[in-house]
Amino acid sequence: MSDLIDVAIIGGGPAGTTAALYAARGKARTVIFERSMMGGQIVTTDHVDNYPGFPEGISGPELGELMHQQALAHGAEIMQFVDITNLKHLDDGTFELTADDETYTARAVVLASGSVPSKLGIPGEEEFTGRGVSWCATCDAAFYKEKDVAVIGGGDAAVEEAIYLTKFAKKVYLIHRRDEFRAAATLVDKVRETSGIEIITPYNPVEIKGEDGKVSGLVIESADDKSTRELAVSGVFEFVGANPQNVLAYDLLERDERGYIITGNDGSTKVPGLFCAGDITQVPLKQIVTAAASGAIAGFYAVAYVDKKD
Ligand code: NAP
Repeated sequence: MSDLIDVAIIGGGPAGTTAALYAARGKARTVIFERSMMGGQIVTTDHVDNYPGFPEGISGPELGELMHQQALAHGAEIMQFVDITNLKHLDDGTFELTADDETYTARAVVLASGSVPSKLGIPGEEEFTGRGVSWCATCDAAFYKEKDVAVIGGGDAAVEEAIYLTKFAKKVYLIHRRDEFRAAATLVDKVRETSGIEIITPYNPVEIKGEDGKVSGLVIESADDKSTRELAVSGVFEFVGANPQNVLAYDLLERDERGYIITGNDGSTKVPGLFCAGDITQVPLKQIVTAAASGAIAGFYAVAYVDKKD
């Protein structure tokens, strides 16, 4: 593709697809670049019940697919499995996007590259990744039929995925380092009422143990008295937050101390024509609806920027 793109969008999650919807509806030539599955992190979410318009809730992959189809229907182009590895701001004010040996030129860019799950960094984690250690219950839960598993974390993701895992596992331990949960109160009530879940707080995971190359246990340490205990589990699911995917913007943009990109209210950055949206930004409540909303704002103002330059 050599023609000039009006608005290039990096990332095909809720922020990116909504930015594309607004940019395409603004009559800009809009291209989404997505290196993997369209939908971003929501493809790993079993059930979404807080996205408006779906009173019964909707599966994450289905919602991602609907967003994708809507952007396409309004004229956005999608370059899937294209990994943009370099982003340059050229002297003429345009942007050069590089993927493998292909380069693309765009008049404006919306960076909506999202975040990736954080890791605990404890012994055994790396060794047993993919062999009992997982960051995606939707992907891996079926491997744990009638087995015991541990879920680590106290946010929305940990609590939701612990509930989901009870459909498969015999027992789910939910381990959180504090007695108070960060997750929404309704979810915490639900997890307390779900049979098959044992909540253990305040405990920190300290080591993942294995046998025959697979996870066989999790050692946890009391935050109160430092005593330890070992849980016999076949799976350890980690939901301990996320890291913003800001590498493309490292040299170009300002970030806060946690790596989230600092933007104006319109998604703009200090680089004219470069906008950011979704989980890579400082948006305080990281939800699908807020990612989509910030995508709408960035997409709209990216078109306004392009139109102004004409
Ligand atoms: P999060 O809200 O940042 O929660 C991370 C949890 O992991 C916290 O409870 C934290 O404990 C714990 N933690 C962090 N580092 C740890 C460590 N080294 N050892 C043990 N525990 C550790 O992350 P999240 O649940 O992935 O959610 C991310 C964002 O996505 C949030 O804004 C969330 O609301 C949103 N989300 C929304 C939905 C939904 O609306 N359906 C679903 C999933 C996620 P502390 O509490 O002690 O810090």
